[in-house]
Parts: sequence; C-alpha cells; structure tokens
Amino acid sequence: MEKIKMITPLVEMDGDEMTRVLWQIIKDELILPFIDLKSEYYDLGLEYRNETNDQVTVDSANATKKYGVAVKCATITPNAARMTEYDLKEMWKSPNGTIRAMLDGTVFRTPIQVKGIEPCVKNWKKPITIARHAYGDVYKSVELKVPGAGKAELVFTGADGKEERVTIHEFTGAGIIQGQHNVDESIESFARSCFNYALDLKQDLWFATKDTISKKYDHTFKDIFQEIFDAEYKEKFEQAGITYFYTLIDDAVARVMKSEGGFIWACKNYDGDVMSDMISSACGSLAMMTSVLVSPAGIYEYEAAHGTVQRHYYKHLKGEETSTNSVATIFAWSGALRKRGELDQLPELMTFADRLEKACIDTIESGKMTKDLALITTLENPTVLNSEEFIKAIRSTLEAYYA
Ligand code: NAP
Ligand code: MG
Repeated sequence: MEKIKMITPLVEMDGDEMTRVLWQIIKDELILPFIDLKSEYYDLGLEYRNETNDQVTVDSANATKKYGVAVKCATITPNAARMTEYDLKEMWKSPNGTIRAMLDGTVFRTPIQVKGIEPCVKNWKKPITIARHAYGDVYKSVELKVPGAGKAELVFTGADGKEERVTIHEFTGAGIIQGQHNVDESIESFARSCFNYALDLKQDLWFATKDTISKKYDHTFKDIFQEIFDAEYKEKFEQAGITYFYTLIDDAVARVMKSEGGFIWACKNYDGDVMSDMISSACGSLAMMTSVLVSPAGIYEYEAAHGTVQRHYYKHLKGEETSTNSVATIFAWSGALRKRGELDQLPELMTFADRLEKACIDTIESGKMTKDLALITTLENPTVLNSEEFIKAIRSTLEAYYA
C-alpha cells in the first residue's frame, strides 16, 4: 500500500518510562508503515527537559500554537524521589501544567468503550465525556484555621482604592474559612471550548453548578455560559441538531446515572476532578480513557489520561515481561491524526484514524487484550498478550482492513 501523505506537521511530544517504550513501538508498528509521517519532534522525556532547563516544554507548546495539533506521551512530574533518580537541576514543573497555561484550555476526557468491558452502570450505552475547567476555585484557594471567637470578613480593594466588604461569619468559637476565586476570562474560554467541542463531536452539552445556593459565584458560571451560548452558538447548535442543557449539579448527577450517555458534561474544576474518576472507574480502566486539551483558539493537544506506568517500567528494565495497555496512547495518535486530516482536508488520514481505533476495539473484542482488561472482561477465556504482542495484534487487525 502507498503511504498516506500529510501536509502540516504534527507536534510530537515524547515522554517517559513505560509510555515512552510504547510510544516507539506504536510508531514502528502502527504509524510509520501506513503514514508518511510529518512530525516536529520534541523530547519531553525528563532527561532532556533537565538538560534544556525545561525550555523544550515551552518550545513544544509554542510549536503547538503554530501548527494547531499535538500528540503527547505521558511524562513524569518530578517530585523529591525523581530529583535523585534523574539527578535534576531543579524540580521542574508539570509539563501538562506548563502547556495548559500556555494554551489556556479545557481538558476533555472520554472512556473508550468496547464489548466485553462493560460499564458498571448498565444503561450507559454511549460514552460520557467530562469537560473539566482547569483553572481556579478550590485549587487556587487560600485557607485559614480560625483559632477562636472573632469576625471573618471578605474584603475587596479595587485598583481605585474603593473597598467592598461582607461578613463571612461572626465566630463564637474555633472554625475554618476558605477564600476561592475565578476570573471571567477563564470561564469564558472554558465555555467556548465546551461549545466548540460539542459542535465537533455533534453531541449535546450539559453544564451544572449549584447556582441556587451560590447566587454570585456559581451563578456567574451559569450566566457566562448562557450569554456566550445565546450570542455565538445558538444557531450553530440548531444547525448541528444538538442542545445545550443547564441544570443543578445534583439534578445532573441523578440524570447522568439514568442516561444512555453520548453527551458532554461540562464541570467546574472540582466537580470535574471528582466526576472524571467516577466515570473512568465505572467504565473499567484508566488505560481506556482518552484526554484532549482544547484551547479557545481551536488548538488541540491529545494524550492518554494515565501516567507513565512507572511500576511496569521498572519490571521492563529488569528484563521482565510487561502487559501494559497502549490503547489510550494509540487513541492520542488517532485523535491527533484525525484532527490534522480534518484541518488539512485529508480524508485518507481521517479514515486511517477511524480504522486505527476500530482495530484496537476489534482486537480486544476478539479476545486479545492486555492483563488489566483480562482481569475485568466479561469475555470468556481472553488471551493475555504482552505489551508488544498486543500492539502487533492491533497491526494485524489494521492490515486486514487495508488488504
Ligand atoms: P500511572 O502511570 O497512571 O499508573 C498507575 C497504575 O495504574 C499502574 O501502576 C497500573 O496499575 C495502572 N495503569 C495505568 N496505566 C496503565 C496502562 N496503560 N496499562 C496498564 N495499567 C495501567 O500513575 P503513577 O504510577 O502514579 O505515575 C507514574 C508517573 O506518571 C508519575 O511520575 C506521574 O508524575 C506521571 N503522570 C503523568 C501524567 C501525564 O503525563 N498525563 C498523568 C498522571 C501521572 P498496576 O501497577 O496495578 O498494573
Ligand atoms: Mg483527581
């Protein structure tokens, strides 16, 4: 077969440990034999980040801004143990944090559903995508332990020196207080990213907060979403045959459990943190969850939702066999290639992305899978493959479609 041609390069961000090992095998077995790959390669492996004083992370984010689509391997976020392990000059920041801050985006996470790995919630027929606002609220809050009786106040001093003041509580004894914030600009870009993504997927968008109780804070989220929807998206949604639906967070949770799935659920930062773990574990495995960062400017960065699978890597280093699931990383590639195909109008590249995903699903549904899935599948007598065998099995499935 003639290899599929590309026009614009894909920004390729390599990573660490077991996922770095998988990255190379995925490229060798599933990408390079089929595609005349055009990519701009950035090595975000911790060694090279350290060597370049993390400049490579910044460069890769700038390249993503320039070209519009990136595919990223999982990377180590250094902690004290990594400082010694990699003899680091500094405890470099999380690459995902750096990239997110530069692209200003929303993270969308979707479980990959296959027959034989059934969600615990029986009526979920289609995947539910969580759209998590990645700025502010409790994650940027300040807190105080109140030692005893006294008055707590919220004070805002404007740039013009004007003061606004509200009493939080007149304490008669010890207690606690917390100050949270968010900014309109970030909420606006969160809203636009969600509306754009819903149009992309042609799926309904749900959004929920607790605006009945939080009449200013949460209500502002609700209002900003509604204003932007009415002004910029209402007609586009009608044309696409999808709806925007706002409700209270507790009502949303109840409806999600009773739903068939197949929609996007926009969540404030904390709700998204909690609900995405609920959705992914109810769907079986973190190794079957895709993740994409979408910026309001229409820039896309695809990755797996899991980390570098350190425990498996140490086994691999000792020469032991591993059975690490590469599906989420393969879907990062297919997602990025499909988006590149869409932007550059390359139908063959889009078809390839669809087939690559179908090959993963068909391979698992035929009973060939990695250990994490074999432990939870409802299929009888699954064949457990090692990391490399599993990718090669997907290649055989994929080759059969092109034969
Ligand atoms: P992890 O890599 O997600 O792995 C945690 C455990 O989940 C593994 O030990 C494994 O369980 C299971 N698992 C995850 N992915 C799997 C896969 N593809 N196939 C099979 N099993 C899988 O999290 P971690 O070990 O806590 O973190 C390791 C490193 O990843 C850290 O340095 C962290 O900073 C980094 N990290 C990066 C990202 C990112 O780049 N997006 C995200 C999270 C963490 P068993 O051991 O039971 O088989
Ligand atoms: Mg969490």
